[in-house]
Amino acid sequence: MSRYLSEKYSALEVYTPGEQPRDMQYVKLNTNESPYPPAPGVVEAVTAEARRLELYSDPVCADLRDALARRYGVARENVFVSNGSDDILNFAFMAYAVDGAPAFFPDISYGFYRVYADLHKSNYRQIPLKEDFSIDPQDYRGLGGFIAIANPNAPTGMALSMAQVEGIVQSNPDGVVLIDEAYVDFGGESCLPLTAKYDNLLVVRTFSKSRSLAGARLGFAIASEGLIADLDRIKYSTNPYNVNRMTLAAGVASLESDDYNMANCRRVMQTREDVAARLTNMGFEVLPSSANFVFARHPGTDGGMLYRELKKRGVLVRHFDAPRISDFLRITIGTPEQMETLCAAIKAILEG
Ligand code: PMP
Repeated sequence: MSRYLSEKYSALEVYTPGEQPRDMQYVKLNTNESPYPPAPGVVEAVTAEARRLELYSDPVCADLRDALARRYGVARENVFVSNGSDDILNFAFMAYAVDGAPAFFPDISYGFYRVYADLHKSNYRQIPLKEDFSIDPQDYRGLGGFIAIANPNAPTGMALSMAQVEGIVQSNPDGVVLIDEAYVDFGGESCLPLTAKYDNLLVVRTFSKSRSLAGARLGFAIASEGLIADLDRIKYSTNPYNVNRMTLAAGVASLESDDYNMANCRRVMQTREDVAARLTNMGFEVLPSSANFVFARHPGTDGGMLYRELKKRGVLVRHFDAPRISDFLRITIGTPEQMETLCAAIKAILEG
Protein backbone atom coordinates (compact mmCIF):
# COMPACT_ATOMS: atom_id res chain seq x y z
CA MET A 1 0.00 0.00 0.00
CA SER A 2 1.17 3.52 -0.63
CA ARG A 3 0.83 6.29 1.89
CA TYR A 4 -1.55 8.04 -0.51
CA LEU A 5 -4.31 5.45 -0.26
CA SER A 6 -7.46 6.66 1.47
CA GLU A 7 -8.00 5.20 4.92
CA LYS A 8 -11.34 3.91 3.68
CA TYR A 9 -9.38 1.22 1.81
CA SER A 10 -6.16 0.94 3.79
CA ALA A 11 -8.07 0.02 6.95
CA LEU A 12 -10.44 -2.37 5.14
CA GLU A 13 -10.19 -6.13 5.58
CA VAL A 14 -10.65 -7.16 1.96
CA TYR A 15 -12.25 -10.30 0.53
CA THR A 16 -9.99 -13.28 -0.17
CA PRO A 17 -11.07 -15.10 -3.32
CA GLY A 18 -10.48 -18.86 -3.65
CA GLU A 19 -7.06 -19.78 -4.99
CA GLN A 20 -6.50 -19.93 -8.76
CA PRO A 21 -3.05 -21.59 -8.63
CA ARG A 22 -0.90 -22.14 -11.72
CA ASP A 23 1.84 -24.33 -10.25
CA MET A 24 0.20 -27.57 -11.39
CA GLN A 25 -3.01 -29.01 -12.83
CA TYR A 26 -5.42 -29.46 -9.90
CA VAL A 27 -8.78 -31.13 -9.66
CA LYS A 28 -10.30 -27.76 -8.92
CA LEU A 29 -13.14 -28.01 -6.44
CA ASN A 30 -12.60 -24.74 -4.58
CA THR A 31 -14.55 -21.93 -6.23
CA ASN A 32 -17.91 -23.47 -7.17
CA GLU A 33 -17.38 -23.22 -10.90
CA SER A 34 -19.26 -25.53 -13.26
CA PRO A 35 -17.31 -28.57 -14.45
CA TYR A 36 -19.15 -28.38 -17.78
CA PRO A 37 -18.42 -26.03 -20.70
CA PRO A 38 -20.72 -23.12 -21.63
CA ALA A 39 -23.83 -23.81 -23.72
CA PRO A 40 -23.53 -24.53 -27.44
CA GLY A 41 -23.52 -21.27 -29.36
CA VAL A 42 -21.73 -19.27 -26.66
CA VAL A 43 -18.25 -19.54 -28.21
CA GLU A 44 -19.55 -18.57 -31.67
CA ALA A 45 -21.50 -15.63 -30.26
CA VAL A 46 -18.47 -14.37 -28.35
CA THR A 47 -16.22 -14.77 -31.40
CA ALA A 48 -18.62 -12.81 -33.59
CA GLU A 49 -18.79 -10.02 -31.01
CA ALA A 50 -15.00 -9.92 -30.72
CA ARG A 51 -14.93 -8.59 -34.27
CA ARG A 52 -16.78 -5.46 -33.14
CA LEU A 53 -14.67 -4.48 -30.15
CA GLU A 54 -13.98 -1.00 -31.54
CA LEU A 55 -17.54 -0.14 -30.50
CA TYR A 56 -18.80 0.34 -26.94
CA SER A 57 -21.24 -2.19 -25.55
CA ASP A 58 -24.95 -1.36 -25.24
CA PRO A 59 -25.35 0.49 -21.90
CA VAL A 60 -29.04 -0.48 -21.78
CA CYS A 61 -28.13 -4.17 -22.28
CA ALA A 62 -31.46 -4.41 -24.10
CA ASP A 63 -31.09 -7.80 -25.82
CA LEU A 64 -29.89 -9.61 -22.71
CA ARG A 65 -32.44 -7.97 -20.41
CA ASP A 66 -35.20 -8.87 -22.87
CA ALA A 67 -33.97 -12.47 -23.02
CA LEU A 68 -33.94 -12.68 -19.22
CA ALA A 69 -37.36 -11.02 -19.01
CA ARG A 70 -38.77 -13.68 -21.36
CA ARG A 71 -37.05 -16.49 -19.50
CA TYR A 72 -38.45 -15.40 -16.13
CA GLY A 73 -41.79 -13.89 -17.16
CA VAL A 74 -41.10 -10.29 -16.15
CA ALA A 75 -40.60 -7.00 -18.03
CA ARG A 76 -37.28 -5.48 -19.12
CA GLU A 77 -37.78 -2.80 -16.44
CA ASN A 78 -37.62 -5.53 -13.79
CA VAL A 79 -34.19 -6.75 -14.91
CA PHE A 80 -30.72 -5.40 -14.20
CA VAL A 81 -27.50 -6.94 -15.52
CA SER A 82 -24.00 -6.31 -14.34
CA ASN A 83 -20.36 -7.40 -14.34
CA GLY A 84 -20.84 -10.45 -12.10
CA SER A 85 -23.30 -10.61 -9.23
CA ASP A 86 -20.58 -9.29 -6.89
CA ASP A 87 -21.04 -6.00 -8.72
CA ILE A 88 -24.76 -6.02 -7.93
CA LEU A 89 -24.18 -6.89 -4.27
CA ASN A 90 -21.79 -3.94 -4.06
CA PHE A 91 -24.35 -1.65 -5.73
CA ALA A 92 -27.05 -2.81 -3.31
CA PHE A 93 -24.95 -2.06 -0.21
CA MET A 94 -24.08 1.30 -1.81
CA ALA A 95 -27.74 2.03 -2.43
CA TYR A 96 -29.36 0.77 0.75
CA ALA A 97 -26.78 0.32 3.50
CA VAL A 98 -24.46 3.29 3.36
CA ASP A 99 -23.12 5.71 6.01
CA GLY A 100 -24.53 4.21 9.18
CA ALA A 101 -27.72 2.78 7.71
CA PRO A 102 -28.62 -0.55 9.35
CA ALA A 103 -27.80 -3.82 7.60
CA PHE A 104 -28.23 -7.45 8.65
CA PHE A 105 -26.84 -10.72 7.32
CA PRO A 106 -25.90 -14.13 8.75
CA ASP A 107 -22.60 -14.55 10.63
CA ILE A 108 -21.71 -17.48 8.39
CA SER A 109 -22.45 -16.55 4.80
CA TYR A 110 -20.86 -15.17 1.66
CA GLY A 111 -17.79 -13.29 2.91
CA PHE A 112 -18.28 -10.34 0.63
CA TYR A 113 -21.35 -9.06 2.54
CA ARG A 114 -19.13 -8.07 5.45
CA VAL A 115 -16.58 -6.45 3.13
CA TYR A 116 -19.23 -4.35 1.34
CA ALA A 117 -20.80 -3.42 4.66
CA ASP A 118 -17.43 -2.22 5.96
CA LEU A 119 -16.60 -0.46 2.71
CA HIS A 120 -19.84 1.51 2.66
CA LYS A 121 -19.87 2.08 6.43
CA SER A 122 -23.10 0.24 7.12
CA ASN A 123 -24.15 -0.12 10.72
CA TYR A 124 -24.32 -3.89 10.40
CA ARG A 125 -25.13 -6.83 12.63
CA GLN A 126 -24.26 -10.40 11.75
CA ILE A 127 -26.97 -12.76 12.93
CA PRO A 128 -25.71 -16.17 14.12
CA LEU A 129 -26.85 -19.28 12.30
CA LYS A 130 -28.57 -21.84 14.48
CA GLU A 131 -26.60 -24.71 16.05
CA ASP A 132 -27.42 -26.89 13.01
CA PHE A 133 -26.07 -24.16 10.68
CA SER A 134 -29.51 -23.23 9.34
CA ILE A 135 -30.91 -19.70 9.18
CA ASP A 136 -33.78 -19.03 11.56
CA PRO A 137 -36.20 -16.83 9.57
CA GLN A 138 -37.68 -15.57 12.84
CA ASP A 139 -34.37 -13.76 13.52
CA TYR A 140 -34.97 -11.56 10.48
CA ARG A 141 -38.55 -10.49 11.18
CA GLY A 142 -39.17 -6.76 11.51
CA LEU A 143 -35.52 -5.69 11.60
CA GLY A 144 -36.14 -2.42 9.78
CA GLY A 145 -33.03 -2.19 7.62
CA PHE A 146 -31.26 -3.70 4.65
CA ILE A 147 -31.06 -7.51 4.80
CA ALA A 148 -28.84 -9.74 2.67
CA ILE A 149 -29.31 -13.51 2.67
CA ALA A 150 -27.77 -16.05 0.33
CA ASN A 151 -30.39 -18.68 -0.44
CA PRO A 152 -29.15 -21.39 -0.62
CA ASN A 153 -26.61 -20.08 1.85
CA ALA A 154 -22.88 -20.32 1.23
CA PRO A 155 -20.80 -22.08 2.41
CA THR A 156 -23.40 -24.31 4.09
CA GLY A 157 -25.57 -25.06 1.02
CA MET A 158 -28.68 -25.00 3.23
CA ALA A 159 -31.83 -23.34 1.91
CA LEU A 160 -34.92 -21.48 3.08
CA SER A 161 -38.30 -22.07 1.44
CA MET A 162 -40.11 -19.35 -0.49
CA ALA A 163 -42.66 -19.12 2.34
CA GLN A 164 -39.89 -18.50 4.88
CA VAL A 165 -38.38 -15.77 2.71
CA GLU A 166 -41.82 -14.24 2.19
CA GLY A 167 -42.22 -13.91 5.97
CA ILE A 168 -38.96 -11.93 6.10
CA VAL A 169 -39.84 -9.68 3.16
CA GLN A 170 -43.36 -9.03 4.44
CA SER A 171 -42.21 -8.09 7.93
CA ASN A 172 -39.59 -5.60 6.68
CA PRO A 173 -41.58 -3.23 4.45
CA ASP A 174 -39.21 -0.35 5.24
CA GLY A 175 -36.03 -2.15 4.23
CA VAL A 176 -34.79 -3.80 1.06
CA VAL A 177 -34.37 -7.57 1.35
CA LEU A 178 -31.70 -8.92 -0.99
CA ILE A 179 -31.93 -12.64 -1.68
CA ASP A 180 -28.73 -13.86 -3.33
CA GLU A 181 -29.76 -16.85 -5.44
CA ALA A 182 -26.30 -17.63 -6.85
CA TYR A 183 -26.90 -21.36 -6.23
CA VAL A 184 -30.67 -21.67 -6.55
CA ASP A 185 -30.62 -23.65 -9.82
CA PHE A 186 -29.15 -26.63 -7.96
CA GLY A 187 -32.30 -27.43 -6.03
CA GLY A 188 -33.34 -24.34 -4.06
CA GLU A 189 -36.76 -22.74 -4.23
CA SER A 190 -36.50 -19.40 -6.03
CA CYS A 191 -38.22 -16.30 -4.66
CA LEU A 192 -38.59 -14.72 -8.09
CA PRO A 193 -42.41 -15.03 -8.04
CA LEU A 194 -42.45 -12.80 -4.94
CA THR A 195 -40.87 -9.87 -6.79
CA ALA A 196 -44.25 -9.18 -8.44
CA LYS A 197 -45.82 -8.83 -5.01
CA TYR A 198 -43.20 -7.01 -2.90
CA ASP A 199 -41.45 -3.84 -4.05
CA ASN A 200 -38.70 -4.29 -1.42
CA LEU A 201 -37.43 -7.67 -2.64
CA LEU A 202 -34.24 -7.75 -4.72
CA VAL A 203 -33.35 -11.16 -6.14
CA VAL A 204 -29.75 -11.46 -7.34
CA ARG A 205 -28.57 -14.24 -9.67
CA THR A 206 -25.44 -15.15 -11.58
CA PHE A 207 -24.41 -16.88 -14.81
CA SER A 208 -21.23 -18.05 -13.04
CA LYS A 209 -22.44 -21.35 -11.59
CA SER A 210 -25.47 -22.92 -13.27
CA ARG A 211 -24.63 -21.43 -16.69
CA SER A 212 -20.89 -22.19 -16.77
CA LEU A 213 -19.88 -18.55 -17.37
CA ALA A 214 -17.79 -17.66 -14.30
CA GLY A 215 -15.05 -16.24 -16.53
CA ALA A 216 -17.45 -14.01 -18.47
CA ARG A 217 -18.52 -12.10 -15.32
CA LEU A 218 -22.26 -11.80 -15.66
CA GLY A 219 -24.83 -11.33 -12.92
CA PHE A 220 -28.43 -10.14 -12.96
CA ALA A 221 -31.11 -8.94 -10.60
CA ILE A 222 -34.89 -9.15 -10.78
CA ALA A 223 -37.05 -6.79 -8.74
CA SER A 224 -39.65 -4.04 -8.81
CA GLU A 225 -39.08 -1.21 -11.31
CA GLY A 226 -38.12 1.11 -8.48
CA LEU A 227 -35.27 -1.05 -7.17
CA ILE A 228 -33.98 -1.69 -10.69
CA ALA A 229 -34.00 2.09 -11.31
CA ASP A 230 -31.93 2.54 -8.12
CA LEU A 231 -29.29 0.11 -9.36
CA ASP A 232 -29.30 1.85 -12.73
CA ARG A 233 -28.62 5.19 -11.03
CA ILE A 234 -25.53 3.72 -9.42
CA LYS A 235 -24.38 2.16 -12.66
CA TYR A 236 -24.80 5.50 -14.46
CA SER A 237 -22.83 7.17 -11.66
CA THR A 238 -19.90 4.79 -12.03
CA ASN A 239 -19.57 2.86 -15.31
CA PRO A 240 -22.46 2.68 -17.81
CA TYR A 241 -20.62 0.15 -20.02
CA ASN A 242 -19.99 -2.28 -17.20
CA VAL A 243 -20.94 -5.37 -19.19
CA ASN A 244 -18.74 -5.87 -22.23
CA ARG A 245 -19.95 -6.87 -25.70
CA MET A 246 -18.67 -10.43 -25.54
CA THR A 247 -20.29 -11.09 -22.19
CA LEU A 248 -23.63 -9.66 -23.34
CA ALA A 249 -23.50 -11.97 -26.37
CA ALA A 250 -22.50 -14.93 -24.20
CA GLY A 251 -25.48 -14.32 -21.93
CA VAL A 252 -28.00 -14.18 -24.78
CA ALA A 253 -26.56 -17.32 -26.42
CA SER A 254 -26.53 -19.14 -23.11
CA LEU A 255 -30.22 -18.44 -22.52
CA GLU A 256 -31.05 -19.71 -26.03
CA SER A 257 -29.79 -23.13 -24.88
CA ASP A 258 -30.97 -22.95 -21.33
CA ASP A 259 -32.20 -26.56 -21.42
CA TYR A 260 -28.53 -27.55 -21.76
CA ASN A 261 -27.66 -25.49 -18.66
CA MET A 262 -30.52 -26.86 -16.60
CA ALA A 263 -29.63 -30.43 -17.64
CA ASN A 264 -26.08 -29.80 -16.35
CA CYS A 265 -27.55 -28.60 -13.05
CA ARG A 266 -29.42 -31.89 -12.75
CA ARG A 267 -26.18 -33.80 -13.44
CA VAL A 268 -24.43 -31.81 -10.72
CA MET A 269 -27.28 -32.50 -8.29
CA GLN A 270 -27.10 -36.23 -9.02
CA THR A 271 -23.33 -36.21 -8.51
CA ARG A 272 -23.80 -34.23 -5.28
CA GLU A 273 -26.14 -36.87 -3.86
CA ASP A 274 -23.67 -39.64 -4.79
CA VAL A 275 -20.73 -37.79 -3.21
CA ALA A 276 -22.68 -36.88 -0.08
CA ALA A 277 -23.54 -40.57 0.40
CA ARG A 278 -19.91 -41.63 -0.11
CA LEU A 279 -18.60 -38.99 2.30
CA THR A 280 -21.20 -40.01 4.87
CA ASN A 281 -20.03 -43.62 4.49
CA MET A 282 -16.48 -42.48 5.20
CA GLY A 283 -17.67 -40.97 8.48
CA PHE A 284 -18.24 -37.35 7.40
CA GLU A 285 -21.05 -35.17 8.61
CA VAL A 286 -22.42 -33.58 5.41
CA LEU A 287 -24.84 -30.65 5.70
CA PRO A 288 -27.93 -30.98 3.48
CA SER A 289 -26.99 -29.07 0.32
CA SER A 290 -29.17 -27.42 -2.32
CA ALA A 291 -26.11 -25.98 -4.06
CA ASN A 292 -23.27 -27.12 -6.35
CA PHE A 293 -21.05 -27.85 -3.35
CA VAL A 294 -21.18 -29.76 -0.09
CA PHE A 295 -19.99 -28.57 3.32
CA ALA A 296 -18.64 -31.46 5.33
CA ARG A 297 -16.50 -32.32 8.35
CA HIS A 298 -14.94 -35.49 9.61
CA PRO A 299 -15.12 -35.86 13.40
CA GLY A 300 -11.67 -36.05 14.87
CA THR A 301 -9.94 -34.91 11.68
CA ASP A 302 -8.60 -31.39 11.38
CA GLY A 303 -10.16 -29.50 8.46
CA GLY A 304 -6.99 -27.55 7.71
CA MET A 305 -4.96 -30.76 7.62
CA LEU A 306 -7.42 -32.40 5.22
CA TYR A 307 -7.34 -29.35 2.96
CA ARG A 308 -3.49 -29.36 2.88
CA GLU A 309 -3.22 -33.10 2.32
CA LEU A 310 -5.74 -32.95 -0.51
CA LYS A 311 -3.83 -30.09 -2.11
CA LYS A 312 -0.61 -32.14 -1.97
CA ARG A 313 -2.48 -34.83 -3.85
CA GLY A 314 -3.65 -32.36 -6.51
CA VAL A 315 -7.20 -31.83 -5.22
CA LEU A 316 -8.14 -28.28 -4.32
CA VAL A 317 -11.07 -27.62 -1.98
CA ARG A 318 -11.96 -24.58 0.18
CA HIS A 319 -11.21 -24.35 3.88
CA PHE A 320 -12.28 -21.36 5.99
CA ASP A 321 -10.20 -20.71 9.08
CA ALA A 322 -13.14 -19.06 10.84
CA PRO A 323 -15.01 -19.65 14.12
CA ARG A 324 -17.48 -22.57 14.10
CA ILE A 325 -16.55 -23.77 10.61
CA SER A 326 -12.81 -24.45 10.73
CA ASP A 327 -13.49 -28.22 10.85
CA PHE A 328 -15.36 -28.07 7.56
CA LEU A 329 -14.35 -28.34 3.93
CA ARG A 330 -16.42 -26.79 1.17
CA ILE A 331 -16.19 -29.10 -1.79
CA THR A 332 -17.45 -28.01 -5.21
CA ILE A 333 -19.29 -30.71 -7.15
CA GLY A 334 -17.31 -31.52 -10.27
CA THR A 335 -17.71 -34.31 -12.82
CA PRO A 336 -18.24 -37.86 -11.51
CA GLU A 337 -14.59 -38.57 -12.48
CA GLN A 338 -13.30 -35.62 -10.48
CA MET A 339 -15.33 -36.71 -7.46
CA GLU A 340 -13.89 -40.21 -7.84
CA THR A 341 -10.40 -38.68 -7.53
CA LEU A 342 -11.52 -36.66 -4.50
CA CYS A 343 -12.99 -39.66 -2.70
CA ALA A 344 -9.93 -41.83 -3.41
CA ALA A 345 -7.64 -39.08 -2.06
CA ILE A 346 -9.74 -38.64 1.09
CA LYS A 347 -9.78 -42.38 1.66
CA ALA A 348 -5.99 -42.53 1.34
CA ILE A 349 -5.53 -39.63 3.79
CA LEU A 350 -7.92 -41.08 6.37
CA GLU A 351 -6.30 -44.52 6.13
CA GLY A 352 -2.78 -43.06 6.23
N1 PMP B 1 -23.03 -14.80 -4.14
C1 PMP B 1 -22.56 -15.92 -3.62
C2 PMP B 1 -23.29 -16.54 -2.48
C3 PMP B 1 -21.39 -16.52 -4.14
O1 PMP B 1 -20.90 -17.63 -3.59
C4 PMP B 1 -20.74 -15.91 -5.23
C5 PMP B 1 -19.53 -16.55 -5.85
N2 PMP B 1 -18.33 -16.33 -5.22
C6 PMP B 1 -21.26 -14.71 -5.72
C7 PMP B 1 -22.41 -14.19 -5.18
C8 PMP B 1 -20.56 -13.94 -6.81
O2 PMP B 1 -20.68 -14.53 -8.05
P1 PMP B 1 -20.33 -13.78 -9.39
O3 PMP B 1 -19.72 -12.43 -9.05
O4 PMP B 1 -19.37 -14.68 -10.09
O5 PMP B 1 -21.62 -13.61 -10.12
